[in-house]
Amino acid sequence: MARVRKGAGRPAPLRVLHVAAECFPLVKTGGLADVVAALPAAQRAAGLDVRLLLPAYPALRQALAGTVEVAPIGAAFGAARVALLRGTLPGSDVPTYLIDAPWLYDRPGNPYLGPDGHEWADNLQRFGLLGWTAAQIAAGGLDPEWTPAVVHAHDWHAALVPVYLAARGTAGAQGAHARTVLTVHNLAYQGRFPLERFGELGLPAWMAGPAGVEFHGDLRLLKGGLMFADRITTVSPTYSREILAPAEGHELDDVLRHRADRLSGITNGIDDAVWNPATDPAIAATFDASDLAGKAACKLALQRELGLASQSGAPLLGVVSRLTPQKGLDLLLSVLPQWLGAGGQVAVLGSGDPALEHAWRAAAQAAPDAVGVHIGYDEGLAHRMVAGCDLIGVPSRFEPCGLTQMYGLRYGTLPVVHRVGGLADTVVDADEAALREDRATGFVFGAATPDALARALRHALDGWHHPAAWQQVVRRAMAQDTSWRVPAARYAALYAEAVAQG
Ligand code: ADP
Repeated sequence: MARVRKGAGRPAPLRVLHVAAECFPLVKTGGLADVVAALPAAQRAAGLDVRLLLPAYPALRQALAGTVEVAPIGAAFGAARVALLRGTLPGSDVPTYLIDAPWLYDRPGNPYLGPDGHEWADNLQRFGLLGWTAAQIAAGGLDPEWTPAVVHAHDWHAALVPVYLAARGTAGAQGAHARTVLTVHNLAYQGRFPLERFGELGLPAWMAGPAGVEFHGDLRLLKGGLMFADRITTVSPTYSREILAPAEGHELDDVLRHRADRLSGITNGIDDAVWNPATDPAIAATFDASDLAGKAACKLALQRELGLASQSGAPLLGVVSRLTPQKGLDLLLSVLPQWLGAGGQVAVLGSGDPALEHAWRAAAQAAPDAVGVHIGYDEGLAHRMVAGCDLIGVPSRFEPCGLTQMYGLRYGTLPVVHRVGGLADTVVDADEAALREDRATGFVFGAATPDALARALRHALDGWHHPAAWQQVVRRAMAQDTSWRVPAARYAALYAEAVAQG
């Protein structure tokens, strides 16, 4: 007699394991961390059976609650003692596995770089272990109670998941086929190591060649993942097309073109609980689209905090960003005299390239009441800037998705962005037609040049001097759906397709 289970007839929720090297707020170097915290939570809210796998960095290991040891792993990747733990992280109801390998992960600071600013010498083992462990879980070998149908790997740090699964054949312990989705958050970072170190990965010898993880004489972990993932996504549709051409392909465009039938773009959302001007505890006064008085208070508070002149009439342009050549903040420096000359103010929060840090500090010293610069990483100040500025600048040369322009939309802080990647997909330029049709949400420029940026800033300034039109754009910006609801549903559809079709 067939066994009848309670609830039979209703399909069990799809099991999905996210694998990543960062998770907001405890370990974050960029937008990846925000996605890894918010997407699994949104998927869980939508009914998927989602879990997360991360390395047990000290901040995560200490914060994990309800910890159980799922399985001892023993010695692996140069670490004498490795174990798989499970629990939950604060503020999250997503069951989270941590790979406890003190020799590899129990060290302070940045997840990728040592105190000297160079990559940790054992990053190949550190992220080899991450991919390998995920593949073990996916193959049904590590957690007897839970095996995912889909493993969703993020960036090069987790790109070995599809490689290890391919190496063992895709069939798991129960003959199940775990499908793999690899999301590229930034193609510029590829996980590059000397080919001589291939042996440390424990992969079959043929994978040391062009059909595997080798690329142009090196190991490139991301390239390996791109070869074997069932589905590849990037974080916006425009970026998914841009990376197919040499200009934005970071050498991998050819590999991507070969896999173009598996590639798609899904625009990120933002965590609308963390980034909500109506409830944000970090800002001077809360506000929403129906009453922007709080936003004016936030601006005055920010001007005071950064030592800027307390002028409500001066348009205040903010930037929250890593200071790297990608982000185009050299372009903003070039047009700074014009912007200040027109009565504008600038606030910059960021860190990174020493030359850019120095140049921005010097700009602030030269005009302290119009340019406020904070070099460093400060989550609270990021909120106060997004809330208190009138404009948020994202002049990136390339931008897979970008998050700060979406924070800006939500807080009525109009984005000034280069028309690339996710910036092109999330901001509608306030040209005449868009204004007439009430679609405009910001200011978009077409080339990564000082001239094009200067034109966009003149356009923004013109808008600033027409308060009724400005308010209309602010309201339209704040009405955008920047939540994870739509992207989470798109990923769910992609998983279902991968499970059905392979
Ligand atoms: P990327 O991932 O390339 O750095 P994104 O725009 O996708 O760019 O994400 C950047 C994230 O990091 C955003 O959440 C942004 O607010 C945050 N961020 C960047 N620099 C800082 C900083 N100096 N202080 C606080 N938050 C920052």
